[in-house]
Amino acid sequence: MTTYNHEKSVRCVVCGTSGPQIILTSSNTLEGPDLDTRPGEMLRSTMEHWLQQCHSCGYVAEDLTEERPDASAVVSSPGYKTLLHSTNYPDLARKFLLKAHMDQVLGAPHDAAPSLLSAVWACDEYGSPTQATACRKQALALIQGAFEHNSFLFEDKGTTVAILTDLLRRAALFEQSDTLIDDQAPIIAEPLIRKLLCFQKYLIGRRDVGMHKISEAHAFGGDPPEAN
Ligand SMILES: [Zn+2]
Repeated sequence: MTTYNHEKSVRCVVCGTSGPQIILTSSNTLEGPDLDTRPGEMLRSTMEHWLQQCHSCGYVAEDLTEERPDASAVVSSPGYKTLLHSTNYPDLARKFLLKAHMDQVLGAPHDAAPSLLSAVWACDEYGSPTQATACRKQALALIQGAFEHNSFLFEDKGTTVAILTDLLRRAALFEQSDTLIDDQAPIIAEPLIRKLLCFQKYLIGRRDVGMHKISEAHAFGGDPPEAN
């Protein structure tokens, strides 16, 4: 069951303005996640409330009351303001992009990566395929850039590879996704990740850019590539 606190007045740490925020207090999932870890319902329908946005200055954070050094300088910067007033993305996607921008400027790529993924999901839900692809490419630039320096922006290397292959495939970058699988599958031992990569290879062969669930990879009968 999903529950909210509708009465909460929150004071923005950047500008000092207080305003109402709907706080998500609990949720659950009745179906499994997609290949890129997008959660199933009902949790997916709570995305509007994963972040708070100040109605006055536009600051976005998980908790607007939490002190964050240099946040006000970022909110005042031309880059943040341009994105805040941009009409290029659905409102929900823009909120996640603002959070990702803040995290990247403040040197927190591990926090920026999940926000960029959420922006992708918001575009899938409310935007156009073109907007979703633009967000996927932004996420790819950050995650691939870190990966090349042996920094994994999700919980471990296997998870990062699994998410990267899906981002590449869904952006129709089939050859890049296929090459990444060929490079990484032989050195990844986790059975689930190997199953996911095997299923991705099948989807790439079909030039499929669609959304698929992790449960489909479990049901897929192909043989994973051998680990060394
Ligand atoms: Zn504010």
